[in-house]
Formats: sequence, C-alpha cells, structure tokens
Amino acid sequence: MNETEKEPEPYGFATLAVHAGARPDPTTGARSTPIFQTNAYVFQDADHAAELFNLQTFGFIYSRLTNPTVSVLEERVCALENGRGAVACATGHAAQFLIAATLLDVGDEFIASNNLYGGSITQFGVSFKKLGWNCNFVDMTDPDKLRAAMNDKIKFIFCEILANPGGVVLDLAALAEIAKEWGVPLVVDNTLATPYLCRPFDWGADIVVHSATKYIGGHGNTMAGVVAESGRFDWYQSDKFPSMTQPDPAYHGLTFAETFGDFGFSMKMRAVALRDFGPTLSAQAAWNVLQGVETLPLRMERHCANAQAVAEFLSEHPKVAWVSYAGLPDSPYHELANKYLPKGAGAVFTFGVKGGFAAGETVVNTVDIFSHLANVGDTRSLIIHPASTTHRQLTPEQRDAAGAGEDVIRLSIGIETLEDIIADLDQALAQT
Ligand SMILES: *Cc1c(COP(=O)(O)O)cnc(C)c1O
Repeated sequence: MNETEKEPEPYGFATLAVHAGARPDPTTGARSTPIFQTNAYVFQDADHAAELFNLQTFGFIYSRLTNPTVSVLEERVCALENGRGAVACATGHAAQFLIAATLLDVGDEFIASNNLYGGSITQFGVSFKKLGWNCNFVDMTDPDKLRAAMNDKIKFIFCEILANPGGVVLDLAALAEIAKEWGVPLVVDNTLATPYLCRPFDWGADIVVHSATKYIGGHGNTMAGVVAESGRFDWYQSDKFPSMTQPDPAYHGLTFAETFGDFGFSMKMRAVALRDFGPTLSAQAAWNVLQGVETLPLRMERHCANAQAVAEFLSEHPKVAWVSYAGLPDSPYHELANKYLPKGAGAVFTFGVKGGFAAGETVVNTVDIFSHLANVGDTRSLIIHPASTTHRQLTPEQRDAAGAGEDVIRLSIGIETLEDIIADLDQALAQT
C-alpha cells in the first residue's frame, strides 16, 4: 500500500462513528436521523424522474434501492472503513450474496479461506453451487497455499481477517499481494474485527463485507449487512469482469466501471443485484444499527479489554485445558494480531474444558450472566457448546475437523463488569 496516495482524513474514528453521513434534517431540524418510513419518493417533474431512472442524477425512487435512513448507515460504515462507496442490505449473508451475484457468472470460480463463519462455508460450498458459482476452500493461514491454488478462472478471494473458532488472524498484506498478482479483488469479512480494530483497505483489500448484525449494530437486536469498496480496484486490467466493463443489458446498456469510476462496484451491486434480488434493509433496521454504531469505538475498547482479561484468567484455570485467543502470547497468531489488530484481538474466542462433552454441557447450563445462544457481538456475554448444539449432528471426527470438538466452548465477551464475567465462569467451571 502506498501511504502517500491516501486522502487525508478530516475527522477521527470516534467522530466519524457519531457523525459520518448524517446532518440535521433540512425541513424539521431533527438532529437524530429520522426513520424514513416510506416506500417511494415524489418526483419533481417528468424530467427529474427520467434522470433518476437513467442514473444521471442521485436521488430516491423506491426503497428497495435506496432510502434516506439506509443511506446514512451506508455512508457511516463507508467512512469508518475509509472506503469509496457502500451498500447496506438485510443480513450479512445477503451482503455476501450481492458480492457474488455482481462478480460471478454461471461456471465462475472464487476461492475462500477455510477459516470462515460456519454459515458462510455452507452458503459458499452448497447453496452457491446450485447457482453455478464454484467455491474452492483453502487454508489461508499459509499464503503459499493460496498462491498454489490460484488459477485464471478465479474471480475473487474471500477471507475473514479475524476468524473463530481458534482466534485465527490472517496475513492480510500477503493475501492482498497475491490478489494483485492475479488481478482479482480481495474481499474481507471484517465482522469480528470491525474497522475499529482493523481497516482492511489500509492493507490492500478491495471489498469489505460486514454482518452488521454483530458489532456494528452491537446490541443483538437487529439483522443487517454492509458491503464497502475501496475504489482502488482496476476492473479494466483484464477481461475477467465483463459485468463491470461491458454494457449491462439489465441497465439499458450502461457500463458501470466507466460511468461511475471508483464507486462503480457499489452502483452495480445496488442498481442490479439489490434491485433484482431484493434483500433490502428496512429503514427501521437501519436506524437501529445507526444507534449502535455511534458507540462502536467505546464498545470495542471494552469488549477487547474484557476478553483479554477473561482469556488470561481462563488460561490459568485448573479446569481449563487450553485457550485459543490471539491476544495471548502463546497463540500462533499473536504476532499477526499485534500487526493487524494492535488495539485488541477481538472478543470472540474458544477454550477447552477438562472433562469433555459432559463438562461442556455443565458449563453452559450453570452460567448465569452468560446467555446460551448462537450469536456473537452482543453487548451481553454469550456462550455456546458447539458439540451439543450447532455441530450436534456431526460425528466426533467431523466435529474435531470443524474446530468443534467435545470440549470446545465458544465465548463472545460482552461489556459487563469484568469481575462479574470472571466470577460467573469461575462458578460454572467449579461445577464440572
Ligand atoms: C454472523 C456472521 C455472518 C452472517 O451474517 P448474518 O447477518 O447472520 O447473515 C457472516 N460472517 C461472520 C463472520 C458472521 O459472524
């Protein structure tokens, strides 16, 4: 990455988290962003309507495509990621779908890290396959394995900078170099790190995707997804991306990379994939996420401080076999975490309880402050024993391969009082 090419940033991260994309409502003066609960927007006249439909002027037509409340969220996340354009949608999985639908044709390939959110592995490996989009999973903890797996049919590379289980941190700069060599975008799922801990565009990534359901919204009450683009990817360097560089029949012959330049990808994703497949974010949901994102830096600071202290406590606990957290010096990912996540190694991690399956069930049954459920990135501390829940139907061998062995417990550490979190785990472990 060339530091000198970057635009100077006018405001700090915490200021952007509160203000980016929002201004007082011009008609009422409302300071908090209103929830624009409307399906459609009145045109000024027939010419204005024509310009909007031709994408010659920016404005609102219909809320499947754009809505003023949703737009504020898009601008907010775009600013936090230091990107050029962004599109919000209904969920993180919808966001991943919109990326693939924009870049892939039937028969195309992409390559993904095998250290991914379980739902993404199923989405890519099973459901995308039915659409003729083929995903090859590789172990990107060794960038040479990615390099060896690359070929000319691959249209993008997908990874999570910080992945669970296992607290895996990838060498983003090395992966970005391989993407550059092959002329394909590097897409980074930044859900667990958030732009507060890591901004993938600073390390050469081209597209960032979020499940805003997690830390961006942050309160465990709203589903949302966001895709942002850096604006630096050159779609014209090869003939691999006809959907960006050729006239689009779905938009009366418009060529998105030519017409919209460094935000062509967001425009294409919105004007074609979001328009035609329709996983739109509602204004109410966008507003909920906007409430959450204002405190992202404060929450992440506390999430990480609590998680670091809990990981240290567990690593010395006699009933704990191992702790897998990149913030601990004995983690194989500690050095990478220091480089890419210097403000903290996130707040989702796994540990092994001595006593295996039965002890794992006892812990989730006896915690009090922790909620036993399948989610991460809530203000509340969350716990799950994958072997008795999400991975229950698998054989013990399959569970081990998926990092969900009998003894594995996953924690998502919340922002409660640290001493209470530790005391709760301590009393639960004492029951095993
Ligand atoms: C939850 C999650 C997703 C999927 O997001 P949804 O909002 O649940 O659709 C994708 N990636 C990661 C890392 C996640 O944690």
